[in-house]
Amino acid sequence: MKLLIVEDEKALADSIYSYLQRENFVCEIAPSYTGALERIAQDDYDCILLDISLQDGDGLELLKTLKSNHKTDGVLIISAHSSLEDKVSGLHLGADDYLPKPFHLSELGARVAAIIRRRHSAGSHFIRLDDIEIDIQAHLATVKGRSLDLTRKEYQLLLYFAYNKGRVVSRNAIAEHLWGDDTGGTDNYDFIYTHIKNLRRKLVEAGAGDYIQSVYGMGYKLTIP
Ligand code: CA
Repeated sequence: MKLLIVEDEKALADSIYSYLQRENFVCEIAPSYTGALERIAQDDYDCILLDISLQDGDGLELLKTLKSNHKTDGVLIISAHSSLEDKVSGLHLGADDYLPKPFHLSELGARVAAIIRRRHSAGSHFIRLDDIEIDIQAHLATVKGRSLDLTRKEYQLLLYFAYNKGRVVSRNAIAEHLWGDDTGGTDNYDFIYTHIKNLRRKLVEAGAGDYIQSVYGMGYKLTIP
């Protein structure tokens, strides 16, 4: 799942980035108000971690922009001043949650995970796709009760398909969501084909249906009968 870290304190942004990457999130950093504005115009994120005091602008204005453009990215405000006023106006503007600095990274991770769960699986730790079950807390997928041996990227792919069930996702969107800035600007997404092929094979071998289908010229779609 893809996150945007809007934070102008570089050391803090870097430590959040490394922590959340270890927690299996794909992360991008926007170190300024203007940088964040560009990122959110170009892309959708599962959750945006939003520092509201930025040197070149007010993070709450970013939140207003998101909402006025009808974007549905989750938003967790991280704020240096733990004032009740900031908290109330942030939540009022549509942020999902608010975390005052300083915070423990583990708490930040838990809040982000909770926002994503609420957005995608009504708060549950489990997603069921016919005979596939995904335990998003344990990062584990099972078919008919037997756990699948998936690589990290295969697991992330499955989760991404689950969150976009019934919708066509382009290879470009998959690359953006699973690799973020690490695609190195290439527009050759053949490597995605290999990951999808392996995921489909593992699902079918475990006895699940072949739910991930390619849609010619468009991408892929997970359809549950
Ligand atoms: Ca700041």
